[in-house]
Amino acid sequence: MFDQAATETIEVLNPANGQPVGSVAVDSPERVAEVVARVRANQPEWEALGVEGRYRWLGRLRDWMLDNSERIADTMQAETGKVRADTGTEIYYLTDLINFYGKKAAKFIGDETVRPHSPLMAAKKLTVQHRPYPVVGVISPWNFPLALAMGDALPALQAGAAVVVKPSEFTPLGIDEIVRAWREEIGGPDVLACVHGGGETGGALVDNVDFVQFTGSDRSGRKVMARAAETLTPVSLELGGKDPMIVLDDADVDRAANAATWGSMFNSGQVCLSVERIYVEAPVYDEFVAKLTREVGALRQGADGRTPAKDVGAMTSPNQRAVVEDHVADALEKGARALTGGKAVEGAGDYYEPTVLVDVDHSMKVMRDETFGPVVGVMKVRDAEEALRHANDTRYGLAASVFGEKQRAERLGRRIECGAVNVNDVIVNYVLMDVPMGGWKESGVGFRHGEHGIKKYCRPESVVVHRFGGKREPVWYPYTKSRRGLVGRISRAFNARDWRRRLGLRAR
Ligand code: NAD
Repeated sequence: MFDQAATETIEVLNPANGQPVGSVAVDSPERVAEVVARVRANQPEWEALGVEGRYRWLGRLRDWMLDNSERIADTMQAETGKVRADTGTEIYYLTDLINFYGKKAAKFIGDETVRPHSPLMAAKKLTVQHRPYPVVGVISPWNFPLALAMGDALPALQAGAAVVVKPSEFTPLGIDEIVRAWREEIGGPDVLACVHGGGETGGALVDNVDFVQFTGSDRSGRKVMARAAETLTPVSLELGGKDPMIVLDDADVDRAANAATWGSMFNSGQVCLSVERIYVEAPVYDEFVAKLTREVGALRQGADGRTPAKDVGAMTSPNQRAVVEDHVADALEKGARALTGGKAVEGAGDYYEPTVLVDVDHSMKVMRDETFGPVVGVMKVRDAEEALRHANDTRYGLAASVFGEKQRAERLGRRIECGAVNVNDVIVNYVLMDVPMGGWKESGVGFRHGEHGIKKYCRPESVVVHRFGGKREPVWYPYTKSRRGLVGRISRAFNARDWRRRLGLRAR
């Protein structure tokens, strides 16, 4: 556990071998307040650049990331213990995101002209303008250190906010490098900053900013929301998941098994959208389990270099490996069997074997709580209705997948209680930034991506302009019998939906 009070420097260790790879200084609450005040002072000028002007700057950041992608991947690999292939996804996603919001921002947050609904207000010109929260605080986890920090910072910047990021204390180096490059190599305006530390630094950020975008565990998310309530600061929370996959008896079993393998083991299962539990209709259960076990058993685990040569890397946080060990031990004790894997890898580095568990049920932690590791439990079900009941038997609701004949699978998928359903695919909804991504139930509050993913960083300001008319409105002073009577008669004439009431006659 990271004890902020005990240290003023965070030493970052490579989870693949335990070797130190760098360090950052911890920012005190006073320092956090200073950083927020500094970017706040620069925000009005940033906002004044407009959508196009801001996109020009963010485009330079996109180009810098593309030009330095190998360097960034080196840092990612060193601080997370990821395999090379898993580091690449972050830069693809971020550069795509810059272009997406750069192109769409004018439509999503540009002025909206609205016609008054009532003919009585025809003289008013109505416009809604979307003004950014001046400073957005982004608090992020360690599993995708860049995608989850910059992924939320970028739409906030495009909206015109200044942003202060507090990355995970386990993975502060990659984001530090990007913020430094924005300032020193790109020469970007001083509206993007980074502060370091654990919960205390994060709490100080919540106290000082105008909007909090948090990604992490539901445990910390609750604390952030409670703290933000003290200052009535709005929050958006992207929390954990326990995503189910359903395999129907008319599924392409090869595709389903390949998807389950990647969906549960990608990034060592440290993905909020990981496939953590699978329900398979009885007729295809044996075939599916055999294929899944073969695929997972063949994965190459370990550290690689710049050339992708391994499939599954290390567990980024030692705490998380302990959670995985606890879930598997609990399942095995209650009667589950590991068909492949089932234990931590001995030796240097925090590795856990890619694991397939069968004979699991919902009394086991591995089917109820977020495991967040390279472990998947598979259950045989009688039919689709039983699969659906199990899929919805959870406090989480981030995403799900259904494999089967596409219309039948879609019909079933629409009944799962979660923020996104992938039919005959897994995890892919995350990169489809055209549609909202977020959690139902205890998986979150608020959404990222799509129109909502940028609009949430803005407050609507309704601008009402009186275009023509006399010196006085009928509802203004002086109140006289005749003027109030006129207002009443006009209101009745427009709002009543039958002639008797329009004419002021009593209902029979
Ligand atoms: P975590 O909750 O331990 O930490 C997340 C961040 O919150 C870190 O930066 C941490 O320092 C900070 N923090 C902790 N306590 C705080 C407090 N009291 N006040 C302010 N900040 C505080 O989570 P983690 O272990 O880093 O990440 C793993 C979790 O993140 C998993 O549950 C995973 O599902 C979730 N996650 C969700 C998404 C999503 O989009 N829904 C994406 C990735 C990860």
